[in-house]
Amino acid sequence: MTLICAVIAADTPAAAEAMKVEALSAGAEAFEVRLDAFAEIPDDFSFLPTEKPVIATLRSELDEERREIFAKALASGAAYVDIESDSVLRGVFPKSQVICSYHDFTKTPAAWDILRIFRDLSSSGVPKAAFMVRGPADLLEIWKAAVVLKQSGDPFILIGMGAAGEVTRIRAADIGSMVSYCAVRPEFASAPGQITVAEAARLGDDPIITAITGWPLEHTRSPQMHNAAFRASGIRGRYVRIPSTAEELPLLPEVLRCYRIRGANVTIPHKQTVMPLLSEVLPEAKSAGAVNTILVDPSGRLTGTNTDIAGISATIADLRITPSNARVLVAGAGGAARAAVSCLTAAGAAVSVTNRTMEKARTLAAEFGATAVPRDELCAGYDLIINATPAGMSGFSQDIPVPVSILTPDTAVFDMVYEPEMTPLLAAAGDAGVRAAVCGKAMLIAQAAASFTLWTGIEADAAAMTAAFGGSP
Ligand code: NAP
Repeated sequence: MTLICAVIAADTPAAAEAMKVEALSAGAEAFEVRLDAFAEIPDDFSFLPTEKPVIATLRSELDEERREIFAKALASGAAYVDIESDSVLRGVFPKSQVICSYHDFTKTPAAWDILRIFRDLSSSGVPKAAFMVRGPADLLEIWKAAVVLKQSGDPFILIGMGAAGEVTRIRAADIGSMVSYCAVRPEFASAPGQITVAEAARLGDDPIITAITGWPLEHTRSPQMHNAAFRASGIRGRYVRIPSTAEELPLLPEVLRCYRIRGANVTIPHKQTVMPLLSEVLPEAKSAGAVNTILVDPSGRLTGTNTDIAGISATIADLRITPSNARVLVAGAGGAARAAVSCLTAAGAAVSVTNRTMEKARTLAAEFGATAVPRDELCAGYDLIINATPAGMSGFSQDIPVPVSILTPDTAVFDMVYEPEMTPLLAAAGDAGVRAAVCGKAMLIAQAAASFTLWTGIEADAAAMTAAFGGSP
């Protein structure tokens, strides 16, 4: 059983006491009291004991000088003191009262090396090691090491640090870790990927996990949206980041199976390259030439689909456009344009494609029976104009991807860009008095909601997802 261990980092004993009370009511089952957070080490350690086990930790350059403080902590009721593997105090206190710890803030070593580190640590106490997780390969090394460590039956603590390590914290019970370190409040998190005590208690030992992979992943808002949907639906579930380089992407299926991840979103640049790694790709994803959602069934079989199409269809429906016979212009010839062209042509729309590189527009149009039109030959007359280029997105060109002259009161405009929500195209559309205009936020939320439903079988709370769009994970 993995205990939810609240990290108590306060600058006075009174503040530590208050934090312990808050953590207990949120579901803490153990405490790590960070003595190094105190402005001054107190004389009186009566704040330390509780009915739950306490680990006393004091990181300091002054190594030997900590001896008396640790002795006092143990005498005052701490169950363990945390002694680093390279400390001169290693071996000083009884093994049964020591957590012997090792940290690597840059990488996760190979499983055999993790096991070597644990063999060494276990000679001085309960072995604890925390490794920075960079991606799927590191997650698999931690998993392989955990399988061996569990066989001994002896207690150990194994943590993957960083945003990519979050899944090791959520699956701490599967890994077999004695404790999972949690923050009392989000703002107190001492490491990225550390969840709160309340969230750990909400999730329990066996939550549903869903994920997103891509590279890089820092700017994705999907975790905020999906975690809000989990909370709103009352499902014990957590959506985590698994950043993956192209080289490590082939390891993703094994990570999904080992960590019992029910499904994953796939984003740039892996939407195409993930396809051969899957057991099956559904027709809509084949047609769009991209997978943005993977469903893992209980036997570990991976099915790829594309919910961007559901996002596009929902947005078009919101604009009150019936695709059959609608005249639609798509600007762009990349992945998002392809998804739009494939679903609109399938629904019977007359689609034109324009693009900076016209050759790509011609190839895309030819595949779906659409028409390629160079920008300088575009004329008014479209029921719907879709921007599927990054023009207008923050950090990209602020050009308007179509001539302003084709924006008329009979036209609706759908700009897939969602940051910012008001783009130069949408501003120009407003000036021209177009019938309706929307940014890509609704599409983003609709595709996320469709993925959520695929994984959980429950309709996502779109309002909760929308509210969380700009919030924290
Ligand atoms: P992609 O595959 O890289 O394709 C980009 C396309 O945009 C290419 O056709 C490219 O033209 C064109 N382009 C790039 N920069 C341009 C510029 N400055 N001016 C005019 N055209 C330009 O990207 P994608 O995945 O299709 O995504 C395209 C856009 O859709 C992005 O802004 C993305 O954020 C947005 N999107 C939104 C959602 C949503 O849920 N709202 C979902 C998916 C994508 P060349 O062929 O000449 O390079």
